[in-house]
Amino acid sequence: MSDEKDFAGSDVNPDGVDYEAVWASVPAGDVALGDRVRLRKAHPCGGFDWEVVRLGADIGLVCLKCGHKVFLSRRDLQRRMKVHFPKE
Ligand SMILES: [Zn+2]
Repeated sequence: MSDEKDFAGSDVNPDGVDYEAVWASVPAGDVALGDRVRLRKAHPCGGFDWEVVRLGADIGLVCLKCGHKVFLSRRDLQRRMKVHFPKE
């Protein structure tokens, strides 16, 4: 018996966009160094776009607006990423 089903970990998704599906549409379900990603929530500086600078257990991202660096687990990135711009 579980009372957690629709509460724990569920994100509010006012856009009605299936981000899991967006992620799944990315080839290999992965990102590469130099890729640009747009996250669902803006950085406090106002920037939405990040560049992938480190790959590993955690993904390193640099804010393209202010240069702030963060590390997200792959799962976190999957949940937060809105658009993926593969490097050409
Ligand atoms: Zn920033």
